[in-house]
Order: sequence, then C-alpha cells, then structure tokens
Amino acid sequence: MFNLILFGPPGSGKGTQSENIIAAYGLQHLSTGNLLREEIGNATPLGLEAKRLMDQGQLVPDEVVIGMVRNFIEARSAAKGFLFDGFPRTTAQCVALDALLKENGNEINIVLALEVSEEELVKRLLGRGLTSGRSDDTNETIIRARIKEYHDKTTAVATYYAQFNKVVHVKGEGTVDSIYADLKQEIDHKI
Ligand code: ADP
Repeated sequence: MFNLILFGPPGSGKGTQSENIIAAYGLQHLSTGNLLREEIGNATPLGLEAKRLMDQGQLVPDEVVIGMVRNFIEARSAAKGFLFDGFPRTTAQCVALDALLKENGNEINIVLALEVSEEELVKRLLGRGLTSGRSDDTNETIIRARIKEYHDKTTAVATYYAQFNKVVHVKGEGTVDSIYADLKQEIDHKI
C-alpha cells in the first residue's frame, strides 16, 4: 500500500490537488471534511453536532473523526493506498492513524505539505465561498478562526511526521499544473 497525507492550511489547494493525485496513482481519497459534509447533508446527529463546530471554524472532536476514518479504511481493505486530505489534524489523530495502518502492516509513506501565505488563503477561501455553498467559506472571521486552529493545533501534524523524516514541503502558489508537477515529482521519488 502507498499512503500519502496531503497537508496544508484551509485553502491551500488540498482538494484540487487530491483529485489529480488519486486519478494518477489509483488511491482512495479520504477527505474528513467531505465525510462530515455528507453527515450534515443527511442531517445525522453526528452531522448536526459537527456543523455547529465547523460553522465556528473549530475542529470536530478527535473520537468522532477517528471513528469515521476507521470505518472508511476498513470498508476498503483491498485499496492500493489512501490519500488523506484534511486528516490528521491533531497529534492524537496522527497516533490513531499510525495504529490503524499498522494493524495491517501499513504506514504513511509521505506527507506533502503545501505552503501558502495567509493573505492568499483568505482571498482564495472568500472566492470559493461565492460559489461553493460552504457556510464556513463566506465569513472572513470564520476563515481566520480556521487558520488560527490550523496554527494552534494542526501544524503539530508536520512536527509529528518530521520526526520520522516523512515531510516534504512544496510551494502551493503558482498554477494548479505547476504545483501538481512538483507534488508528482516528490511522490515518484518515494513510490
Ligand atoms: P478546509 O481545509 O478548507 O478547512 P475541510 O473540508 O478539510 O476544509 O474541513 C472543514 C471543517 O471540517 C474544518 O474546519 C473542521 O471543522 C472540520 N474537520 C475536517 N477534518 C477534520 C479533522 N480531521 N479533525 C477535526 N475537524 C475536522
């Protein structure tokens, strides 16, 4: 199995680049944001609670997210590998993911970290909010709260994987194609 984490702040292009990568390498796309939005769309109890937190730019509790990820992985045991997008977001999620993969002798092979300046992130997210229907993308205060959550809690994910030398930093500004070419080069080194 080849398992990749696409890492970076909200608006760094994880979703866009994920589409390119999964198509090229035949990986399963696991976006916890998408899974949570599905729960919201189905108005499940989990979705209702998650929406309240997401609308404030806060993270959903680790247990909830880890449970969703476990179900997703266990339902796809024959996969060639996974691309994790928006997960893990805390150190506890990193530890849980490593344990989950290890149950079947697998591991994270590479963490690709997209680097984008804060002003560019806010610009992109407000732009996305005009058409995406995502309520967390329409308000600059919420966007800045998400970026703050990223700095407070999620940058620890890069620190966690850096101790295993798994993190590669890639510039996330430029054209979609040029950024994809850089990501592809790093994946091809590792695969
Ligand atoms: P973005 O990266 O643009 O913020 P996502 O779709 O990845 O968008 O996530 C949207 C929201 O869903 C986050 O702000 C957070 O509230 C919640 N969320 C997504 N993934 C996780 C996670 N792994 N842990 C906790 N909360 C999460």
